[in-house]
Amino acid sequence: MDGLSDLYQEVILDHYRRPRNFGLPPEAERQADGHNPLCGDKVRVAVHLEGDRIAAIGFEGSGCAISTASASLMTEAVGGRTLAEAHALFHLFHELVTAPAGVPAAPADPSLGKLEALAGVREFPMRVKCATLAWHTLEAALEGAASEVSTE
Ligand code: ZN
Repeated sequence: MDGLSDLYQEVILDHYRRPRNFGLPPEAERQADGHNPLCGDKVRVAVHLEGDRIAAIGFEGSGCAISTASASLMTEAVGGRTLAEAHALFHLFHELVTAPAGVPAAPADPSLGKLEALAGVREFPMRVKCATLAWHTLEAALEGAASEVSTE
């Protein structure tokens, strides 16, 4: 990981420029808002559950490339998954982006898939909150708690 240019690799730029699942599913019955005041990122995540499966998920908001790409990648990763699977994925993702900087990373868990593109944020502690904002917001939405999360 040589620096910032590696952070903004192709997968991230692609998801920033063309976010997937942008817009809230009309059938969504749960949503939450997240805010990362350090960077100014704002995201709203909405989900529609069928049983314990995430049948539809979408997001809207505005933020930096990392937060937008992370939200987009997250919606792709958890759409169609069970709540337990989504939670396990968040755990893996959180470990990925908070691994100690400068240490050669262990091979990422294959179930992370494209989420591995965000591994570079571990070198930039300020960016970890950008990368995890959408995930914390998803958790809040799934918990159904009245739901405004802040990374502060
Ligand atoms: Zn940000």
